[in-house]
Amino acid sequence: KPRVIPLSQHGVRRDRLSHAALKVTSRLQEAGFTAYVVGGAVRDLLLDVNPKDFDVATSATPEQVHHLFRRSRIIGRRFKIVHVMVGPETIEVTTFRGGSIDDTNETGRIMADNSYGSQEEDAHRRDFTVNALFYDPSDESIVDYHHGVKDLQARKLVMIGQPARRYQEDPVRMLRAVRLAAKLNFEIDENTRKPIRAHAHLLKKEPPARLFDEMLKLLMSGQAYSCLCKLREEGLSRGVFPLLDAVLDEEGKDEFLRLGLQSTDVRIREDKPVSVGFLLATLLWRQVSQQWTARLKEGERPVQALFDAIAEVESLQDNEFAIPRRFSATMREIWLQQPRFDSRSGQRPFRFLEQPRFRAAFDFLSLRAQAGEVPMSLVQWWDDFQHADHDERQELIANVR
Ligand code: ATP
Ligand code: MG
Repeated sequence: KPRVIPLSQHGVRRDRLSHAALKVTSRLQEAGFTAYVVGGAVRDLLLDVNPKDFDVATSATPEQVHHLFRRSRIIGRRFKIVHVMVGPETIEVTTFRGGSIDDTNETGRIMADNSYGSQEEDAHRRDFTVNALFYDPSDESIVDYHHGVKDLQARKLVMIGQPARRYQEDPVRMLRAVRLAAKLNFEIDENTRKPIRAHAHLLKKEPPARLFDEMLKLLMSGQAYSCLCKLREEGLSRGVFPLLDAVLDEEGKDEFLRLGLQSTDVRIREDKPVSVGFLLATLLWRQVSQQWTARLKEGERPVQALFDAIAEVESLQDNEFAIPRRFSATMREIWLQQPRFDSRSGQRPFRFLEQPRFRAAFDFLSLRAQAGEVPMSLVQWWDDFQHADHDERQELIANVR
């Protein structure tokens, strides 16, 4: 029933897989199980993009997988998956999953997703046809149950099954559609796109932690800016991510945000590290700076005014949408350092430079300058100061004003 597409027709050789992916699939196959590389990695290889990780699907149960690999652990309770470590890599191994209408509640939401199934069932419960391809490294063939290769060639995201029902089962699929379309530069197929607007409200019931994860993926996709524009187009902007509401409301007006997201996008596409705290600081800065300005006008002292502005913005976020502590701490520090760039006398610039967060705060200042919020000459001064020797630094301080 599935199409089996040979190497001669798709051209993806097994040497495109990572060492770990090859090792995991071949060991499983030698032990008598079926095993394939699946999902995003196969899709990306067909598009000639380097996959960021490799997932494997197999007929072996999690316990059997764990037994075959010394460096592995079973994770997850509701459905178990196995992380297999090979050198520095981790491969996620999942057992073929079933999942039928019996697993959904009266609203159609998936409740249980933990029954094992056949390879065909596993293909069927995946989201888009291009994400349901299985690559067999032993003969370099691709198993395609849902015309995924055809859709990939047409650069179309097509939901498997009935889109409306699939969104009811799992509303996060709507966000995935937007994110993957932006990331891959694909069209969302009309039938897949149409029901999104009417189902957008379902996202509000998703656990905030899952939405936060999905939003991070979106922001870290290398296409954050176009993802956000597309979210708005598809009617997914309001109420889903409180963090993004303010951002998405004012189209085009926010030069600071556009510059910030685009510079992050460039860094990601160039494989440079990106700090999530920095990204969040960028997203929420307009709200903070508006509050800050208002408080300054009322005569509050700059540092105290900033402190209060941050507290206010964070309290708005907190109710609906907790930013994990590990990110909010960095975000807050980047903001709180901003007034220090105005103190350019005495020992202060020297002490500031010693701060571990100086660099991030400085990059943030540069963004503010590019958006016309602070004079470029201030950025230039701090740039000179960083690269000067001790005497030159004293001179820079003496020449301020
Ligand atoms: P990325 O390149 O961003 O990793 P991906 O498609 O690999 O994209 P993952 O979150 O890594 O996304 O998921 C791996 C695979 O699991 C997908 O390709 C898809 O087949 C399946 N999958 C993930 N999330 C869902 C979902 N919500 N519903 C159905 N299938 C899903
Ligand atoms: Mg993936």
